Amino acid sequence: MSEVRDWNLSETNLGRAEQIPYEIAVLPIGATEAHNLHLPYGTDSIQVRSVAERACERAWEEGAQVVLLPTLPIGVNENTLGFPWTLSFKPSTVLQMLRDIVSCLEHHRLPKLLVLNGHGGNELKALMRELFRHTDVQVVLVDWWTVDPHAMQANFEEPGEHAGEMETSVMMHLNEDLVELDRADEGETRESYLTGIEEGWAWIARPWDRYTTNSGVGNPERANAEKGEKFLDSCVKKIAELIVEMDEREIDEWYPYRSG
Ligand SMILES: [Zn+2]
Repeated sequence: MSEVRDWNLSETNLGRAEQIPYEIAVLPIGATEAHNLHLPYGTDSIQVRSVAERACERAWEEGAQVVLLPTLPIGVNENTLGFPWTLSFKPSTVLQMLRDIVSCLEHHRLPKLLVLNGHGGNELKALMRELFRHTDVQVVLVDWWTVDPHAMQANFEEPGEHAGEMETSVMMHLNEDLVELDRADEGETRESYLTGIEEGWAWIARPWDRYTTNSGVGNPERANAEKGEKFLDSCVKKIAELIVEMDEREIDEWYPYRSG
């Protein structure tokens, strides 16, 4: 029996794909950046790709005509370039890529797109607003790690913001060989003398090499693969449900709302 997964565009072929009226595409967007001293540069891309694969597989098994697009491996990291070998696209570059991808989907009459984001610095909402009047493709955006706050709370004592307990646990579940936990430190951060920043009501794109000591924010000490698996499963389940719902509903003048 063939191992080709029809829902994975990078694996399938024209012979198969011609037979399938795909209804919804999933586009994962990751990053290439330092993650404390112990996680791979590709952490965000590896994680978002895995979440997307598992969610697409699950949705496909439930009958969704979903196709997974290749993961964009570089994201917006303008403020973290202070750490060696981090790569970055400007938000305007990401917007151009999204425009081109959406235009291809339109060309192929693929009406719905789920953008699955894997990196906090990829603040894509403003880009979605840019796309809004320029395409008929219905675009929905999800930051994968935010979909189940209960699971986040249930599984982690201190999830951490960057390369902490949550991200390290998920990576240990996905590929323990790529986690060198003995290299990690606690991920210390510096306080700002601007009160608004400390109180959280003033915002800056934080210069990461000044804000953090080793690029990490959050302590990875209590991370383990089991927590990572449980959390990932909860997120995958919810994202798969969203894909099924998006797939089922015809696009009419009310999409995605109920009429009347
Ligand atoms: Zn990350």
